[in-house]
Amino acid sequence: MGVYALFEDRFPLLTVREHVSFSRCTTIGCGGEAALSVSPSDAEEGAEVLNFLQRERVPYAFLGAGANTLPPDGFSDGVLVRSDHLKGMVLDGNTLFAGAGVTGGALVRFALCHEIGGFEPFIGIPMTVGGACVMNAGVKEKHISDLVLRVLAIRKGKIESFPLSACAFGEKTSVFQDGKIFVVGALLRAEPSIREKIRKKCGEFLQRRSSLPKGRSMGCIFVNPNGVSAGELIDRCGLKGLRYGGAFVSERHANFIINEGGTAADVSALIEKIKQDVFLQTGIALREEIRRLSFYEHT
Ligand SMILES: Cc1cc2nc3c(=O)[nH]c(=O)nc-3n(C[C@H](O)[C@H](O)[C@H](O)COP(=O)(O)OP(=O)(O)OC[C@H]3O[C@@H](n4cnc5c(N)ncnc54)[C@H](O)[C@@H]3O)c2cc1C
Repeated sequence: MGVYALFEDRFPLLTVREHVSFSRCTTIGCGGEAALSVSPSDAEEGAEVLNFLQRERVPYAFLGAGANTLPPDGFSDGVLVRSDHLKGMVLDGNTLFAGAGVTGGALVRFALCHEIGGFEPFIGIPMTVGGACVMNAGVKEKHISDLVLRVLAIRKGKIESFPLSACAFGEKTSVFQDGKIFVVGALLRAEPSIREKIRKKCGEFLQRRSSLPKGRSMGCIFVNPNGVSAGELIDRCGLKGLRYGGAFVSERHANFIINEGGTAADVSALIEKIKQDVFLQTGIALREEIRRLSFYEHT
């Protein structure tokens, strides 16, 4: 696309990768590839890169750990802007700043090491801090929104600090979901705790997760509608085990689709079928929790 050479010229220190396979950078493990990915290493570099992409009218999309993302099949002539080099963490009294690329595992290990409580529910959730802010990730008792004080992000090429009130966190939603704001990091509440207590809680959360389906997935596909379990609805409609190509509805948890070598089209068709059957049989319209990766020019 010629942009690679432009990047090398303009951003000599930026990590740029060509032909980036979606199956390698998403947990569902399907899809084609992106022409390029770039990994800014701080907010300033991120802002310069995004300004450059916008000026050059290059389509782009954001990605964290790819744990809630369905990528497209085929070749995407666009740039994947990744957070994987934004991994810094700074503890200052009762606050912790974590870069968008910090994984859930790294966050919990840091919290254990520095005796900070409150992060235990995130153990075992495949995520980055950026992706978790976009998705308001968490478990029943606690979501990232319960810990966020501010989110640092780039909007329209400028670095902005979003106080909690501007993040519009809801059930698996946030203001960052419009695909136009790149999260750089989050300032999180850091309550003092003790190692033994943190370890015990982590063990309890891990135990709870041990019954989740194994294999390549995106976690829950649908949000629970008004407190009803989406998995139970899907199960009641007799869809457990339904297979399209290499993708099938998990027997363990009907809100999970497992991919064994299928395409994004298989997964998508299965999602549509589930929505259709659940609606026809129960009258309930399921809302997708997962995000679809789409590249477009930002104006
Ligand atoms: C096995 C399994 C179990 C799971 N269990 C849970 C669970 O218990 N609770 C839960 O809440 N979720 C769960 N999930 C879903 C997933 O872990 C969360 O949604 C997580 O927050 C996704 O983070 P990510 O970094 O992978 O985001 P990605 O999938 O990379 O991205 C999600 C969305 O955010 C955007 N995005 C990513 N990074 C940025 C950024 N820096 N700036 C702007 N936009 C960005 C992407 O474009 C995409 O639209 C599970 C998933 C799997 C596979």
